[in-house]
Amino acid sequence: MSKLALFGGEKTVTYTETEMFDWPIITDEDRAAVLDVLNKRAMSGTNITKEFEKDWCEWLGAKYALGFNNGTAALHAAMFGCGVGRGDEVICPSVTYWASCTSAMNLGATVVFADVDKDTLGLDPKKLESKITDKTKAIIVVHYLAYPADMDPIMEIAKKHNIKVIEDVSHAQGGLYKGRRLGTIGDVAAASLMAGKSFAIGEAGILNTDDREIYERAIAFGTYERFTEDNIETDYLKPYAGLPLGGFKHRMHQMSAAVGRVQIKYYDERCAEIRKALNYFWDQLEGVPGIQAHRVDESTGSNMAGWYVPTCIYKPEELDGLSATRFCEALAAEGVIVEGAGIKPGCNRPLHTHPLFQTADVYGDGKPTRIAFKDNDVRVMDEDLEVSEYINTRAIYLPYFKHYKPEIIDQYVAAFKKVCENYKELLEGDKGDADNLGGWHRFKHTKKAK
Ligand SMILES: *Cc1c(COP(=O)(O)O)cnc(C)c1O
Repeated sequence: MSKLALFGGEKTVTYTETEMFDWPIITDEDRAAVLDVLNKRAMSGTNITKEFEKDWCEWLGAKYALGFNNGTAALHAAMFGCGVGRGDEVICPSVTYWASCTSAMNLGATVVFADVDKDTLGLDPKKLESKITDKTKAIIVVHYLAYPADMDPIMEIAKKHNIKVIEDVSHAQGGLYKGRRLGTIGDVAAASLMAGKSFAIGEAGILNTDDREIYERAIAFGTYERFTEDNIETDYLKPYAGLPLGGFKHRMHQMSAAVGRVQIKYYDERCAEIRKALNYFWDQLEGVPGIQAHRVDESTGSNMAGWYVPTCIYKPEELDGLSATRFCEALAAEGVIVEGAGIKPGCNRPLHTHPLFQTADVYGDGKPTRIAFKDNDVRVMDEDLEVSEYINTRAIYLPYFKHYKPEIIDQYVAAFKKVCENYKELLEGDKGDADNLGGWHRFKHTKKAK
């Protein structure tokens, strides 16, 4: 057993280039597409965006797509599209990026949080039905960290209760669930396409649906220039054509749309290479005590899309309680990349523990915004979000390989094996995980009011 680099041993990872981790892949074709928009002074037009929407529909096999300035806006419009309004409830997993659900409150609706599964990190279908009330309008399903949510039972529950399903595909554009493209299974899908995501084209988002009414409501909400009488078939929307019902302007920037038209041509192929790299990594680490792959079984016809933020399910109980933080510290010393697409202990922190969902009165309603339009206090339904409350100490973001280069991946595998084998030496000096472990930003969460 070689000595851990943390204690003066040799580093296992000698590869230091960032090329392996750089994303998205930008070529002269992307550059030319952006310059073309600029030279034509077409930055605020919609012609290229409409072409991109067509590409998107063809690629996914969807009927309608609508471009947005970001994913948050696309999700907001998807909720409006589904008729979410005053007093309604939407169900969303507590462990996700805030934009999956936060704009519900802007519609006068509220978020009811559901728990996630400790192995898939996605919405646990077994814990879904108990969250449904006669006010539930939609379920927001997140294909969290690229792992496809278990859509079959979720759709069955939704159909039974006549509730719409919104897929947040921000982590898993183009991924598969049992052979079907993610984003084509629910009633409507929305995705972020910002530069940090798998499908990365700059500040942008997109919505797709096969439902004409949802599509037209999304147009009416924040796309005034397309909200014209001859463009709209839904009778009750026609009288309001011309002005955006939501008061928003959601148009996608055409430079992003132009990049999107190029990226979409190569995207599936590039994602396949990422999956090959990460499957190669995990195949060698399967069964190593302390760590477990967060990956779907591809023989079921599902996949991890562009494997947005590869994650390890960390099992401290198999390593005498070693903290995720200390584990990552040892890996960093071995030369495992930390910056950018590197390792980091934790995952998103549970949203329900943030005061925005407990006490904030954002619009001056005299009571917390989350329950401003309700007789029932949905906050009491947060009591059983057990996995959501501990999971960020049991997840570690892994190095995010973008290329299949076995000789480099082998070094990373060796580093993980070395740290797992020598974990006992790390127990002494382990200060444990910080209370605020995880999260993308420095959100200040409070423990929920008991
Ligand atoms: C990034 C993200 C969003 C928001 O998209 P933006 O383009 O940043 O507005 C929504 N949901 C999830 C799950 C995300 O990761």
